[in-house]
Amino acid sequence: MTISRRNFLRDSTQVLSCASLLGVSGLASAAAKPRIEVKDVNGLALFTGAGGNVVALPSPEGALLIDGGLAANSAALLKAVASNTGSKRISTLINTHWHPEQTGSNEAVGKTGAKIISHEVTRLALARKNNPSALVKGAYGGLPKEALPTVTTYNTGSLEVAGETVDYRYLPAAHTNGDLLVHFPKHNVIVAGGPVAGNEWPVIDWIAGGFYHGFLRSYEILAELAKPDTLVIGAAGEPLTGAEIARRKDIYWELFKQFFILFNVGFGPEDVVAFNAGQEFVGVTPVVADRPLKDLIEKMGDPAQFLECAYRGLQQATLPH
Ligand SMILES: [Zn+2]
Repeated sequence: MTISRRNFLRDSTQVLSCASLLGVSGLASAAAKPRIEVKDVNGLALFTGAGGNVVALPSPEGALLIDGGLAANSAALLKAVASNTGSKRISTLINTHWHPEQTGSNEAVGKTGAKIISHEVTRLALARKNNPSALVKGAYGGLPKEALPTVTTYNTGSLEVAGETVDYRYLPAAHTNGDLLVHFPKHNVIVAGGPVAGNEWPVIDWIAGGFYHGFLRSYEILAELAKPDTLVIGAAGEPLTGAEIARRKDIYWELFKQFFILFNVGFGPEDVVAFNAGQEFVGVTPVVADRPLKDLIEKMGDPAQFLECAYRGLQQATLPH
């Protein structure tokens, strides 16, 4: 098996192959009538079926909502939030990042005068028209003024909701370049946004500023913040424990080392995918004997899109333009 040099060419066809897998399925799901389901996570309400995970905390002054699903599902989601939390209104909405699966309720919620909190980069992205990214198939953004975040941060912030201090914090260049986590210390829950996807593979939007170094740093931050029994809710999938986040941090660190060994012997994204699928490469396997994703692949299935997007981000940052 020889290494395919053509993989170094970052042409538009290859970008779209990375783009088409998740973005299309996410948008296509909006066409069908959404089935919003809700479950309790340590006293917080987790809503699924709107396009991405949505978390709510009821409060007499109005509910706090983290992310808002796709715009096409917003009406159904907000109805479910109102009936489940008993809150007449949403007082604050936090966007973990700018993707359509997280910001589809901004307009409806913003029009009621609610506060919308995000990273400043997320506000900038929502205010303009964005070209397709690694995860968003069509252009997105240029949202109306009422849909734009009204409070932004570059780093950290906090707010009081129902007698609890809720903290939010930047996860640098993890999934996009404007990711926030939201920590509920009293509920022992962290809403982690894009870098975490339960037992589905997370995907780094390397065209929108996500980067493997930042992705890895986000797992370090989450592992430091979470106790072993903390429940960590990602943008998709089931909540994970803090202990599982710490375990995955170690696995992703091993992958980071593997990437650089493979990078230095000239591997392209397709080669990295093949290598982690168990394909033998003459002269390379003895150098990198183990495949750190093995356990996760057994649980989560094919990591091709995760690997391809993660590795393309490294190439983009490292190869001369
Ligand atoms: Zn996303």
